[in-house]
Amino acid sequence: MQAARTQQCGPSRHHDSGINFEHANDSYFKYILNNWGVWTIPSGFLHLIWSCRRSGISFPSPANRAAYTADMVVFDEGRMAKLYPLMFSPVFKDYPWGGRNLEKLGRDIPDGIVAESWEIAGHNNGVTIVSNGEYAGKPLTALISGLGSDLVGSNYAWALERGKFPLLIKILDANQPLSVQVHPNDTYALENEGNELGKTEMWVVLNAKPGAEVILGVTKGTTLESFREAIAAGRLDSYLHHVPVKTGDHICVPAGSLHAIMGGSLIAEIQQNSDTTYRVYDWNRVDADGQPRSLHVDQALDVINFAQVEPELCPPKPLSKNGGVSRWLLCQNEYFTVERVTLEPKAVFAGICTGDSLEIWGVIDGSAMVNDLLVNAVQFTLLPAALGVFTVRSEDGATLLRVHHHC
Ligand SMILES: [Zn+2]
Repeated sequence: MQAARTQQCGPSRHHDSGINFEHANDSYFKYILNNWGVWTIPSGFLHLIWSCRRSGISFPSPANRAAYTADMVVFDEGRMAKLYPLMFSPVFKDYPWGGRNLEKLGRDIPDGIVAESWEIAGHNNGVTIVSNGEYAGKPLTALISGLGSDLVGSNYAWALERGKFPLLIKILDANQPLSVQVHPNDTYALENEGNELGKTEMWVVLNAKPGAEVILGVTKGTTLESFREAIAAGRLDSYLHHVPVKTGDHICVPAGSLHAIMGGSLIAEIQQNSDTTYRVYDWNRVDADGQPRSLHVDQALDVINFAQVEPELCPPKPLSKNGGVSRWLLCQNEYFTVERVTLEPKAVFAGICTGDSLEIWGVIDGSAMVNDLLVNAVQFTLLPAALGVFTVRSEDGATLLRVHHHC
């Protein structure tokens, strides 16, 4: 790797030994586009290039580009760190509603019931370990300490200040119904749960049996008082809003939403990095010792949003379609944006991580190369926020989830 100079693009430092965009002109853009392969330019990419040009970031010369995209080196206050798309070994959870369906995704799960696979996690209750490249064997929490904002990005400074990774990525085998539950927002969680964040989450249905459904929100006329009485009387059902789901659907679940995933779905979950759940009803289940799981009725009643009355699922919003790459917006909130991206055979998505936000790419159908990393369905890779230019390409076509927090 060649020595490089440090330059600024937004709040994070980048560098390379190539051409500075301050001195580039339109013919250089065309040169890049023509010589870096058949690229599809995602919405916002040219804007980012122009922003970086204004801020003085330089881009690599064509001769240096392979090293730049596959094996970038960042100098940060004298430290040299290697940034590349990261894969992780998952952490499994054996909650009682799980099954064995994670085996179908190629997960090497332990015996018995397995409910969740934490795919990218840096939480007290589960930390995933890097499984590829120079950082193989290191826990995600160690990377947060070592790489800081270069890993998560300046838009996640609020999480870094608390020593936390901002997101948690899971796959859920909802073989049986999950408890009816609610998660607090940041304010309530930080006041009542120690240094714990709230939990806004979203689900993508990877596979649903016929008749699968979720519970989201309350039915018309539900009030805090009527709901409290219904919990006490054990007759909740008429207050729960059931929503049918099928493979490919997505559901946005802001903190405060009364919700449950019913049985028969395999679900990818993107959420804030939190493990705080207030259960209001657990279907009268008991564990192997005959004990029910604890409920948290008072906390739940504190945080349930009773104004969320019979919400409908939002359809994906088309963002762009260009050169075999189609993007849809699934969910956007103050913590993350989730897109669905489809690549037709041989199509290429070109992106750039300029230091403002990490990106997480998950293949949910087919397979794709993220730079030189092969990612199969269903796997996720974490792109450090200061990675720089990256490409996602698919030989035979793929459907992916893209998670980020670019402004
Ligand atoms: Zn939940």
